[in-house]
Amino acid sequence: MICKICGKQNKKMNTFKSIFEQYNWDNIQTKIYETTSKDIERTLAKTKYNLDDFLVLISPVAQNYLEEMAQKCHEITKKRFGKTIQMYAPLYLSNECQNICTYCGFSLDNKIKRKTLTDAEIKLEVEALKNTGFDHVLLVTGEANYTVNINYFLNAIALIREEFSIISVEVQPLSTEDYQRLHDAGVYSVLVYQETYHQEVYKKYHTKGKKSNFDYRLETPDRIGTAGIHKIGLGVLLGLEDWRTDSFFNALHLDYLQKKYWQTKYSVSFPRLRPAEGIIEPNFIMDDKDLTQLICAYRLWNEDLEISISTRENEKFRNNIIPIGVTSMSAGSKTNPGGYVVDPQSLEQFEISDERSAAEISKIIKSKGYEPVWKDWDLAYSQKL
Ligand code: SF4
Repeated sequence: MICKICGKQNKKMNTFKSIFEQYNWDNIQTKIYETTSKDIERTLAKTKYNLDDFLVLISPVAQNYLEEMAQKCHEITKKRFGKTIQMYAPLYLSNECQNICTYCGFSLDNKIKRKTLTDAEIKLEVEALKNTGFDHVLLVTGEANYTVNINYFLNAIALIREEFSIISVEVQPLSTEDYQRLHDAGVYSVLVYQETYHQEVYKKYHTKGKKSNFDYRLETPDRIGTAGIHKIGLGVLLGLEDWRTDSFFNALHLDYLQKKYWQTKYSVSFPRLRPAEGIIEPNFIMDDKDLTQLICAYRLWNEDLEISISTRENEKFRNNIIPIGVTSMSAGSKTNPGGYVVDPQSLEQFEISDERSAAEISKIIKSKGYEPVWKDWDLAYSQKL
């Protein structure tokens, strides 16, 4: 494996695992819940925040200071990103999956009709997305290594390459070599969520398949960074475990990656567990106020971080969060393969909460004094001019 950072041959790289093992879940959780008003007041008086401050900002007591946090967050985001929201749409290519994840409609043990889009079907879906104005597509699949593998991805990317300025992928964890192939094929960013950083709880939710290997998933962002992919997206599935503690570990992961793969950009997403065929109920409820607090904490801690909100979230929440810290939003999304035109009835991965069209979301964004951005001009200039 060749490291794209140093150009040397690496047999076994140091990864986030060595950092992760230095932390104890219970100790971090205790620290978060023992935070006092004095701690949060001292933290909010600062102008730069570190990971210890992030821990304070996600504490229960920090909710009493949410107004102040949101105001600061708005100012920082406006200064760093302007009044813009990047628009993207997911394109589900397949619902085949060889894993059992107890919270997902695509889980192997769900007896649903499986579908993987053919070349002709991909083109039809792309045409529908292009007609609504999207220039950034997120390709999503289940994890079916025998059929929906690197060759399938490379073929799909070659088919759509000319249609989109930005192609992101959210597929099964791959090897560094395969990430390099995706990079060379024109993939801009890769999203991979750890789901939960609680190792024991992770085992309970991921009972079968390659995803049950906690460490392999934990080390995936290292492989993406080593391959030189432009942007890495992280997140946890909110509802599996205590969101405050899980979010601390997600921030720890980001902190490590940003220091090591410093040329890479980073984004964070906040998927809250949604209803889906045959799934369990969330163990830990996160309400809208909690999610607002978490977004503010990320923004205060990390000014450069891109913050994404999907259509999992409800209309009211998405409308209100626009001026606070978000930098990208999906719209008009379908979470089933062929969902736009080819096979709208196929089984979705989870239920969408905000069903408004891309045009409606665009109108809402403008009404808040923000500009929906369909194309990443920075990228267009750096790659094509
Ligand atoms: S979460 Fe991903 S890996 Fe798990 S069942 Fe769903 S599609 Fe498969």
